[in-house]
Amino acid sequence: MYIYNTLTRKKEEFVEIKKGHVGLYTCGPTVYHYAHIGNIRNYIGHDILEKTLEYLGYKVKRVMNITDVGHLTSDSDSGEDKMEVAKKREGKSAYEIAEFYTAAFFDDFKKVNCDVPDIVSPATDNIDMYIKIIEKLLKDGYAYISGGNVYFDISKLKDYYVLTNHKEDEMVVGAREGVEEDNRKRNQADFALWFTVSKFENHEMLWDSPFGRGYPGWHIECSGISIKYLGEYLDIHGGGVDNIFPHHTNEIAQSESYLGHKWCNYWFHNEHLLDQSGKMSKSNGAILTVSELEKRGYNPLSFRFMCLNSHYRKQLVFSFDALDQAEQTYKKLKDKISNIVDDGELEEDKYNSYNQKFIDEISNDLNISNTITILYDLLKDTEVNGKTKLALINSFDKVWSLDLTKTIEEDKELTEYILSKIEQRNNAKKEKNYSLADQIRNELLEKGIELMDTREGTKYKILK
Ligand code: AMP
Ligand code: ZN
Repeated sequence: MYIYNTLTRKKEEFVEIKKGHVGLYTCGPTVYHYAHIGNIRNYIGHDILEKTLEYLGYKVKRVMNITDVGHLTSDSDSGEDKMEVAKKREGKSAYEIAEFYTAAFFDDFKKVNCDVPDIVSPATDNIDMYIKIIEKLLKDGYAYISGGNVYFDISKLKDYYVLTNHKEDEMVVGAREGVEEDNRKRNQADFALWFTVSKFENHEMLWDSPFGRGYPGWHIECSGISIKYLGEYLDIHGGGVDNIFPHHTNEIAQSESYLGHKWCNYWFHNEHLLDQSGKMSKSNGAILTVSELEKRGYNPLSFRFMCLNSHYRKQLVFSFDALDQAEQTYKKLKDKISNIVDDGELEEDKYNSYNQKFIDEISNDLNISNTITILYDLLKDTEVNGKTKLALINSFDKVWSLDLTKTIEEDKELTEYILSKIEQRNNAKKEKNYSLADQIRNELLEKGIELMDTREGTKYKILK
């Protein structure tokens, strides 16, 4: 497989560290607000990467953090703590905020058929690991304490800017919006590993440490969680392009200084989803979520389909017109597939030939939109029988995850079935027949459907 590596700025052949196995780390969401569809595009990109690796026969171990502490609004060491911003906005505790938005994130994540990583770890669960790393960095002279905080000293590295193709003077303070000068730092590009001086009143998430009571910086969490769960040598680490600097640059600096050797071989970055006014962002006012798309009547998989039609390294501009278009095409495609008759014997040669074309495209830096073209070619191909076509589509859909052979009728029937069960349960509750109500809930749960009673009525979730 060939994959673009931000570290070398080249498409490179992928060579794993341990034969047949891949360690994959994905930077997770900051759970101070809903994840917008731009964030979800990024996770669809990672999902496709994981499923492609699996299609090619690798065994993937994937880890993702949940940022529930330490991420400041500047992505650097100035600005407000994002969780504190949310606390003020919603009058809840930081832990309540994190719990609520983590659940909301995974709801949307699953709606677009993203697989939950093998390990998902909140930043607040790994404080010991950050302390261990920071202690060693201090001991080895890579870090220093100043004004109460612990900072990483970037002058100790030969090539701090290895991941970015920018020059140092473009990246330092003043050049980047929202980053304030900090006179506690030896170099303005140094970054905080641990904050003990909280400028926020009633800062809630604080831990004791050898450097004082405080909280970790944002970057240290991904180094800590990755090394803890995936070891000292990592195959692939990914995020959105905005993570290249400073987040991933700082992760490399602190991880490699701590480990004493090269840490991660391939850096995978997804381009942004834009809206008419530019990059979508959580701090930008109204947040468009996958759930909101669903409320407006769209199938979340139409959004996934839309993302799959553009390369992960290209910006994608979102508009409702474009989504309408994607939904129509997606529906037509499913309709066509539902008309294929599963007849004949599997034609192995034809199967292998189409499968090879598919493998060639996914192995070429995840050229997924070309695999959709292969699908159209296959559908048109009168030389291939129904059995072979369906076998190929089912196989390709392990990567796409578009539920292409699940018919629209099946979806409709399932929805109608669930809604009728919810109604039966509501009636049972009205009649105070709670045992029947519980029985209905458990029946659904056994089928993988969870009911949730909310202020707006009973909602359901299809568990994967
Ligand atoms: P955050 O929750 O802000 O930490 O972001 C979660 C992930 O989404 C990060 O890896 C970001 O790089 C990525 N991201 C943020 N905005 C966008 C966007 N507009 N399009 C695609 N990815 C994004
Ligand atoms: Zn990260």
